[in-house]
Amino acid sequence: MNGHQQSACGTVGEAEPSSERRYQEMLGAGLDLLDQGVTVFDAELRMVAWNTAFLRLLDFPEGLARPGVSFEAFIRYNAERGDYGPGDPAQQVAERVARAKSFEPHVTERIRPNGRILSIRGFPLPHQGFITVYTDITDQRHAAEQIARHQAELEEHIESRTEALTRANEELTAAIESNKAITQALRRSEQRLREITDAIPAAVAYFDREWAYRYANKGYAEWFGWSADQVEGRKIQDVVGQEVFEVVQPYVARALAGERVTYEYQLTGRDGNPARARSTLVPDIAPDGTVLGGYVHSVDVTEQRRTQAALAQAQKMEAIGQLTGGLAHDFNNMLTVVIGNLVALKENHPDDPLTENFVEPAMHAANRGAELIRRLLGFARRQPLEPKPVEVNELILGMSKLIRRSLPSTIAVSTASREPCLVAMVDAHQLENALLNLALNARDAMPNGGELRIESSLEHLNIHAAADLEVPPGDYVQIAVTDNGMGMDGSTLARVFEPFFTTKQFGMGSGLGMSMVYGFTKQSGGGVRIRSRQARGTTVALLLPRVEEAQPEAALPAGREVDAADLAGKLVLLAEDDADVRSVVRMQLAELGCAVVEAENGAEAADMVENIPAIALVISDVVMPGVMDGRALARFVKRFRPDLPMVLMSGFAESGFHAGGLDPDPGPPLLAKPFSRDKLLAALRPLGA
Ligand code: ADP
Ligand code: MG
Repeated sequence: MNGHQQSACGTVGEAEPSSERRYQEMLGAGLDLLDQGVTVFDAELRMVAWNTAFLRLLDFPEGLARPGVSFEAFIRYNAERGDYGPGDPAQQVAERVARAKSFEPHVTERIRPNGRILSIRGFPLPHQGFITVYTDITDQRHAAEQIARHQAELEEHIESRTEALTRANEELTAAIESNKAITQALRRSEQRLREITDAIPAAVAYFDREWAYRYANKGYAEWFGWSADQVEGRKIQDVVGQEVFEVVQPYVARALAGERVTYEYQLTGRDGNPARARSTLVPDIAPDGTVLGGYVHSVDVTEQRRTQAALAQAQKMEAIGQLTGGLAHDFNNMLTVVIGNLVALKENHPDDPLTENFVEPAMHAANRGAELIRRLLGFARRQPLEPKPVEVNELILGMSKLIRRSLPSTIAVSTASREPCLVAMVDAHQLENALLNLALNARDAMPNGGELRIESSLEHLNIHAAADLEVPPGDYVQIAVTDNGMGMDGSTLARVFEPFFTTKQFGMGSGLGMSMVYGFTKQSGGGVRIRSRQARGTTVALLLPRVEEAQPEAALPAGREVDAADLAGKLVLLAEDDADVRSVVRMQLAELGCAVVEAENGAEAADMVENIPAIALVISDVVMPGVMDGRALARFVKRFRPDLPMVLMSGFAESGFHAGGLDPDPGPPLLAKPFSRDKLLAALRPLGA
């Protein structure tokens, strides 16, 4: 600076006034404040002014810059120290001086040996000469380079990223391709699974947490009347319907709470018939414990339940049959004794008024006891029936007269038939008995009066309806007895056929009416259907096997003349283990004019048959102790004396004795205990004894 000031002063110092000098000093000081180097040369290329930055940027020694120093001196200095690079310094100087002399504006850049980059700009001055400005642009250039480098790096980065992306994209495309193969394989295996699940005889489905199906096999969908693709995505409620949904809803909720549940429900099957299903719901639990949905597995248990119910019913019947059979046997023996002795008492004292007072009520009670046992046996299907073709319309008309007379006048009795002629294969007396029972029940259900209707019609039972009644499908004669009385609740309805089940006050009902009706129809090869609604009324419909062509037989010849003459004097073998019964029957036989030999078991009787040729008739109990019971005795008689007539007496009839039964040899005719003398005669007479 010093030098500069000095030199600046020196430049113009010689003969100038002091104000000029002062101006020069100020200019010099101002120039020294600049970062850029500045030089001014005149037309002769002699130095006029400079600043300290010029010297610093170009590393010129201080002494070199002086006013009047030639431009060339600086150039030479540079050339000699190698600032212009390799080459002839003299030539380098000459070129540069020549260019400077042209006083053209110019801009050049130079990298100094120390690495600094200088931008050099020359501006010609108006009266020749020029001013040159030197700027150190090293940092600026470095910054630019850095930016450029960054830019390049960035670009490179982007390029490499793009490349990576492209690669990823390619890999993805490849993956998608292989995925397609996997997807196809999956689809194929899913298809196979679907075929398998569609083929199994079960309904399978999967539902999610939103209560919507994600999957359903064919069986499941069809069970509810849909196709499989219709079910998927649909809500459970929409698929199964409101009625079923109400039943299954709590189970679905439990499954979605993680519980495995099994339950049964009723629904209307595809064919419109009620069906029963058993479902198991298995929750689908993720490893973290959340329930994702549930698997449904349903099976149709309609047939199974039907069979089970039928089996249970059959077993119950069998047990009751056994019970009543044994009971009836003993009971009928006792009644035989009671009634037989009462009859004898009455006949021996025909004119005693006491007989009338005491014997009659006792007889009446004993007969009622016998009737009760008969009904019990009817229920237990041990009552021998005599099924014959019966025109039911006629029978109903006849019965309706009797019923009208027995019911209070507040009950209107009507009959109707949809067919002019309906022939069923039944025991007419038992059918009348059944209708009477139904009418009495209807009466009891209508204490304030009402309507009782008896209607007959031809019913066709399809396979389901027939299965419900455990009968073969086909045509049946239906007799429906309808009342508009109090009806029955569910629990009554469930037990209505049970013997001794009654809701009536003690003494008002025996609980045997409906069981008789049931037993009789079942035994006739038919069934009973009940429809009942509380406070609305009840319809009990008997379905009886229909006879197509056969004409109903003429009514049984009633009140046939009983003639004891034929039996008089005959020797009758009476086999009976119960001594009291034996004496009653002996008494009855004696009254018919027979001579009687007695045996108290089968073996003894067989002995007599063998040894007493005069025996013209055998009458034997069925149940007797020892190896030879009544039936065995019958076989013995048949072999030993084939033409010897025989009658069996029994407290109950076994199935082999059912009229029209399957046994090709029904054996001897059966006389049900207790029996009157007239009945005994009626049984013996046809034997042509
Ligand atoms: P009982 O008539 O001796 O009670 P049943 O076997 O005839 O025995 O009937 C059993 C029960 O069934 C009756 O007690 C009654 O509760 C019910 N029942 C039968 N028929 C009808 C009907 N038509 N209306 C209402 N309830 C009935
Ligand atoms: Mg009754």
